Amino acid sequence: LPSRLTPTQKNVWIEYVQLAEDYKPLNLGLGFPDYAPPNYVTQTLAQIAKSGDCLLHQYTRDYGHPRLVSALSQLYSRLVKRPINPQTEILTTVGAFEALFSTIIGHVDQGDEVIIIEPFFECYEPMVKMAGGVPKFIPLRLKDLPPNQVPTSGDWILDKDELEGLFTPKTKLLVLNNPHDPLGKVFKLEELQHIADLCKKWNVLCVSDEVYEWIVYKPNKHIRIATLPGMWDRTITIGSAGKTFSVTGWKLGWAYGPSNLLYNLQMVHQNSVYTGNTPIQEVVAIGLEKELECLDRDHCYFNSISSELVVKRDFMVKVLSEVGMKPTVPEGGYFMVADWTPLESQIDLSSEKDKWKDYRFTKWMTKNLGLQGIPPSAFYTERDKSLAENFVRYCFFKKHDNLEEAARILKKWK
Ligand code: PMP
Repeated sequence: LPSRLTPTQKNVWIEYVQLAEDYKPLNLGLGFPDYAPPNYVTQTLAQIAKSGDCLLHQYTRDYGHPRLVSALSQLYSRLVKRPINPQTEILTTVGAFEALFSTIIGHVDQGDEVIIIEPFFECYEPMVKMAGGVPKFIPLRLKDLPPNQVPTSGDWILDKDELEGLFTPKTKLLVLNNPHDPLGKVFKLEELQHIADLCKKWNVLCVSDEVYEWIVYKPNKHIRIATLPGMWDRTITIGSAGKTFSVTGWKLGWAYGPSNLLYNLQMVHQNSVYTGNTPIQEVVAIGLEKELECLDRDHCYFNSISSELVVKRDFMVKVLSEVGMKPTVPEGGYFMVADWTPLESQIDLSSEKDKWKDYRFTKWMTKNLGLQGIPPSAFYTERDKSLAENFVRYCFFKKHDNLEEAARILKKWK
């Protein structure tokens, strides 16, 4: 294996997908809905498949299907309150994953430092290392709360001085994930302002992974860091059709930002993927056009998705609390972390041999109770994994029957 690939070897998804194959648990591990996406989205897919426009089945423009970059430009021009050029300031990619890859490989040089906030979406660290960069980590920490107060993701905060201390003349880039996976944190204006001020002070680029931009629970509001003064010029923002329309298998994403920054991504894209899937880009373009027509109304999917999910969130918080875990109530996204250690004395984890306790707990639970979660220490660098050992991550974007089943499993055990 070339040395640049060694950090990529261990991957929690490969391990836990196999675990699910072997034990067939009720799976609250993986991050996707287990029921149908919005009707109009799948209907549009069917219409495109049957349409007489045979060119929709052939290669499209390399940096993004024209109808899609046009729709993205309309949408984000409105949201970031500046005109976004569909030709030069947007790139469509194979999922947000490729957008992250093209950004990191396209901007990070040998020895460049990259600031990553823990817990982080697992690919950030290996991508930085593959680029020859040096990741620098800072954890979000749960602040001290009165014993009976239920924590929210807003209670997970960055220490300002610690963050400031990570910036050096070698810092090239900071990766922000907002709304945050797995905590569900929706960064407040004041928190974003602090990050933005440091990026400006040290001339650092900001990669803002905003794949959960439409999943934000009231009264929280998603603020795009690219809209803060002076930030457009140094921010690449990343989105995902998979998350936006609840179709994660479609693997279509995008990045937008100023053309000089997007150019580097285009270079990686044109020499690896070259051009994305045409019919899926057409369908997503039509979906965005429809959403644009109703953006301020409740029935719009971009608004209704959070009302649909908040019910599931509250159900899971209640169930996990009733069985004795301590969930953190997410302000956005469709994951929840919970401290499972109040139950520790009732479990014998000695059959599991993993180094980290959250791995042992999640494996034990999959095998013995038939319920799967993900060990969040997977989202921390080796140095900090112990910070996550007391937690488990569940995805609650599941049909109500399955959440009820999870509740039954947990309550029967308790
Ligand atoms: N970023 C985050 C924070 C994610 O949670 C995910 C998917 N789980 C991605 C990026 C990747 O998105 P996509 O499926 O569009 O590649």
